[in-house]
Order: sequence, then structure tokens, then C-alpha cells
Amino acid sequence: MLKHLSLLAAVFTIASLAACEKQAEVHHHSSLHFGTLIDITLYDVSATQANAAFKQLDEDFATMHSSWSPWVPGSMNRTNKLLKTGSPFSAGPGVLELIKRSTVIADKTGQLFNPAIGELINLWKIHNHDDPNIQPPEKELIEQLLKSAPKLSDIKINGVKIHTKNSGVSLNFGAFAKGYAIDLEINMLKNLGIKNAIINTGGDLKAIGSHGDRPWHIAIRHPRQDTWLAKIETQGDESVFTSGDYERYYQYNGKRYHHILDPRTGYPAQGVQSVTVLHTNSGLADAAATALFVAGPEKWLEIAQKLELKQVMLIDDKGVIHVTPAMKKRLKFNSQIQTTILTTGVLY
Ligand code: ADP
Ligand code: MG
Repeated sequence: MLKHLSLLAAVFTIASLAACEKQAEVHHHSSLHFGTLIDITLYDVSATQANAAFKQLDEDFATMHSSWSPWVPGSMNRTNKLLKTGSPFSAGPGVLELIKRSTVIADKTGQLFNPAIGELINLWKIHNHDDPNIQPPEKELIEQLLKSAPKLSDIKINGVKIHTKNSGVSLNFGAFAKGYAIDLEINMLKNLGIKNAIINTGGDLKAIGSHGDRPWHIAIRHPRQDTWLAKIETQGDESVFTSGDYERYYQYNGKRYHHILDPRTGYPAQGVQSVTVLHTNSGLADAAATALFVAGPEKWLEIAQKLELKQVMLIDDKGVIHVTPAMKKRLKFNSQIQTTILTTGVLY
């Protein structure tokens, strides 16, 4: 089930307000990039400014997608082929930056966030969940791929050249690239003089500024019900990223197989329905939500601490909501639904 279909996770931008506030104009734009619908909302800009910004955003997202997707001909695709040779080569546009930034995060998460498991992701046919005959891969094939234990730090960087001796390394930045792209594009908007905006990719988003004299209102989707679970009012520049088992999955023999893989087992991570991270940095929030999902209810706090995150919510497989105290302060839960909420210890 594609994330962009989850309209409930959409940002609440109340356009009618704009009509009352005479000077301030709200402009919306939606387009399909990274296999998901990207919604942009700008507040208090002219139509000319907004159109220029939307055009630039579309161009940039299209370029990033073709450079960073492992499945379309482009930089990432070429990089994955050349990594197999073991010889040094120049990484394509943007790829080196993704590797460097993600390596730092991957190491802090003990490789629970691991963009080097591209072959495992391909084996699960995660990008192909709509195939009606889809089924989990053979255990032996999964075990085979785990043997080489690929990780980003297996890639050696020398200036602009990279190589690896681990032929199991195959790059897939699906858990980080959208967040990083949003950071870059929010900066682009700021450079155009835009101060109040949201870029939202199916509920994963970054907001800057405000909606006039009120903050932006964000809704977080319930992982199992067709409604919102909690709302957040943003404070300054903030990113909200969620990783959930409902985003892309298929059922096989009554079991749910979703798209967040545990690099230790080779199977979809167990024990969690969703993780939401609130942070200024979108790239970090994106990768962290994936890592904490994999970490599960036992280990998520330890990893959150290593990533220096303060505002996190995890919903376990029983539907119990675990929140850090700092996150709890920010959330307004939906009173229409029954919730069990556990707040974690003093520090976290
Ligand atoms: P989404 O992009 O749908 O918001 P995530 O940010 O959680 O979801 O990223 C999930 C995607 O990242 C998967 O579709 C897959 O391509 C890739 N992936 C899956 N498991 C991992 C993992 N443990 N580490 C890094 N990337 C992963
Ligand atoms: Mg992610």
C-alpha cells in the first residue's frame, strides 16, 4: 500500500483561512516524485514567487530521483555496477554526499539503518509490492546475502573516488534520500526568500516558519485505523518523519511482509507498527525513524540516545504507544480513539 495514498497523514493547511487574511496568500503544489506524491504549501508569497519555487522544486526532485534511485538508469545505478568491480571510480553526482552522510548515521545505529543492503531489498521485491504473485524469498537466498554483511563503511573514499572490496555492497538510500532531499529543497526555498513553507511527502515533512499568526498543524496517521492518531504544532524549522509497516507491504499466508528490513535477520523487522521522529534535520529524522523501527521496543531508546534524538514515538505490535517525555509534550492525541500511552524514563 503506497504511502501517498494515506491522505490522513496529510498536513492540515486550512486554505480558507487565507481568504480571511487579506495580504497573506497560500499556494499549493502537488507532483509525483520519488514514487510518492509531494505536496508543497507556501504561505505569504506572491503567485510569481510561488510558481518560480514550484518549477525549481519539480526540476530538483526529478534530478535527485534519477541520480539517486537504484532502479532507474543514472548515478546510483551506475555506482552499484562499478562497486562490484572492486576498482576505484568517481562516484556520480550527489552519490558521494549520500554515502558520507549516511555512513555516520549507519555507524551510530550499529547498522540497523543500513543503505548497503540493496541486494536484500531487491530480493524482497520491495519496490514491486503490487505484483499479485509476490511471495517472500527463499530462506537460503536471504542467508546467502547476509554472509557478506555489507555496510557503508566497507566503501573506501579517496577524494572523489570510491571502491569496496565487499562485493555484497549495493546501495539503496530509500530510507534517507527523501529526507535529505527535503532538507536541500527547504534551503532552496529559503534562498528564494520564502520563510513559511511545508514540503510533505505522504506525511513525512519539513515545515519552516508558520501559517501567519498560528503554527503549522501536522497530523500523524494511526498505524492501524483510518484516522489520525495525534497532532503536532510545529515550532520553527521542524521535520516529522514516520516509518510504518503499513506503508508498503503485502500479505502472504496471512502474514504481513513490509518494507523495513532487519539487516541482522534479513527479514522485515518485527515488534513495531510505526516510529515517528521529530527533529530539525529531515535526513536524520528519516534515517532514524527506519533505524528505530528496526531496533524495536527493546533497543529503540539506546539507538535514539546514540543519535541524540529527544522527540520520538514508537507504537509496538500490540498497539501500545511509547513516547519520550519531550515528544509527549508536543503531541495532542485523538480523544476519539482508545490509546495506551507509556512515557519513557527521565532522560528519554
Ligand atoms: P519510507 O521511505 O516509505 O518513508 P523508510 O524511510 O522507513 O520508509 O524507508 C524504507 C525503505 O528503505 C525501504 O523501502 C527500503 O528501500 C529501504 N530499507 C529497508 N530497510 C532498511 C534498513 N534497515 N536500512 C536502510 N534502508 C532500508
Ligand atoms: Mg526513513
